[in-house]
Amino acid sequence: MIGVNAGHGTSGGSSVKTLCHPDGSAKTTGGSTAAGATKATAVSGGMTFADGASESSVTLRMAQILRDKLLAAGYDVLMVRDGSDVQLDNVARTVICNNVADCHISLHWDGDGLNYDKGSFYISVPDGVKGMEPVASHWTQHNALGASLVDGLRAQGCKINGGGSMSIDLTQTSYSTIPSVDMELGNACSNHSDETLNIQAEGLLHGINAYYGR
Ligand SMILES: [Zn+2]
Repeated sequence: MIGVNAGHGTSGGSSVKTLCHPDGSAKTTGGSTAAGATKATAVSGGMTFADGASESSVTLRMAQILRDKLLAAGYDVLMVRDGSDVQLDNVARTVICNNVADCHISLHWDGDGLNYDKGSFYISVPDGVKGMEPVASHWTQHNALGASLVDGLRAQGCKINGGGSMSIDLTQTSYSTIPSVDMELGNACSNHSDETLNIQAEGLLHGINAYYGR
């Protein structure tokens, strides 16, 4: 059961806070919430593409394309969000995946302010949280799944940012008890046509197959 989490898509979530870490400790790196904070935005609105498309609409389209490929390949799929709005914050999305799915893949495009497409990468687990449970027991799985997804994208000819990963202390990985990764599939300047999303979804499918030895 693959948990497919179309990032964002919750109205009102940016005015609500949830704990960064289950034990209430402070966030170790910056991201959409600064390092040192103990509470983070429950779920943010996401960025806007250069052509005006919302990140949440593109992540949903990507989730639908990936879902169809996974189902055709024989996987079961948990769609964390299958409409334009779902009232689930990042902790809730993660806990649902923990309870129901075998892995959790959230789909995002980076809001980095750049004026060129820097390519795809996954968010790896920073050293500062590797001793904290449940991260301590699962971070090697998170990073292995992320690396496998990036390998799959690379094999499809997708542009990869740097070494393919960036380490950020995320709510998602802090609460995950299954292999769990935030995939950043580009940024505001990335092409997000169905044709491109299809190629990226094919890459993710190959990465999932490789992770599970299929
Ligand atoms: Zn995002």
